[in-house]
Amino acid sequence: MFCPLSWCGAIAGLIVGGLIAPTTSARAAGVLTVAMTAGDLPTTTGNPDQGFEGFRFVGWNLYDALINWDLSQGDRASDIKPGLATEWHIDPANHKRWIFTLDVVVRMLGGLWGKGRAPIPLALVPLTTGQVLDVGDFTIGCFPVRRRETDSFGFCFESRAPRHLRPDRLAALGVPDGPVRKDLAEGKPVMLDDGRTVDPEHVLGPAERRKKLVVVGDTETTQGLAEWVRDADLLVIEATFLDRDSLIARDYGHLTAAEAATLAATNNFQLLILTHISGRYGDEEILAVATKRFPNSRVANDFDHIVI
Ligand SMILES: [Zn+2]
Repeated sequence: MFCPLSWCGAIAGLIVGGLIAPTTSARAAGVLTVAMTAGDLPTTTGNPDQGFEGFRFVGWNLYDALINWDLSQGDRASDIKPGLATEWHIDPANHKRWIFTLDVVVRMLGGLWGKGRAPIPLALVPLTTGQVLDVGDFTIGCFPVRRRETDSFGFCFESRAPRHLRPDRLAALGVPDGPVRKDLAEGKPVMLDDGRTVDPEHVLGPAERRKKLVVVGDTETTQGLAEWVRDADLLVIEATFLDRDSLIARDYGHLTAAEAATLAATNNFQLLILTHISGRYGDEEILAVATKRFPNSRVANDFDHIVI
């Protein structure tokens, strides 16, 4: 979203220039110079308080409002309609405080290709904590990550817990080779040629362990992450700084390598991959710190392939 104040500064500069331009030169060039005021803060009409002038000349609002008045009906009081904000409500604890939900990101992504022109079908959905997607073989969930005032998330990819057919049970029940076994492996009950029904629970072994990959981007702390990242086969997480620069790390809202590795060491990870290393360090410096706390640490390289 544009900052109204910086717009004001830029526009005010232009206007002043127009006002003090010698009128003679304007006349000589045959140009009508019009002094106009432009956007300050929005008023309740959805325009800047001096902005209708600007709208008249440039043809569009000089900013986007969070919400707009619906002025389409003249026979009743105007209601509010969405602007940048798609949803809003009044804080029950403080009636002077309005809370807005913005769809700026959705619009930005939508603008990459234009409506309906993305190379694959796209559905943009707001993220909330919990499962985001279930594509059968794996699920994707997200969880909150603290980073300054942002709504940041980490992501957890988990495979479905595999269950294998038990040959001894198949033989005992006389389940023939072929499509019926495939159906049973997929958890579907089948009817055999002799009319008997076989339930998958009668032939499937116990669930094996799910594979878990967790990816965390920028985060100012590891506090609160354990419950989401525990038992990961692989955690990919930033480790921008070293402890000697921990004050800068706090200022920038980033982790140190020691913090990332400590998270790994205390939460039963198999492998830790560190990313987003500050250019002020060599990878070996980061690794030396991380492996001291969690030996199975690596620094990510572009195009790495890692099988878990
Ligand atoms: Zn960053």
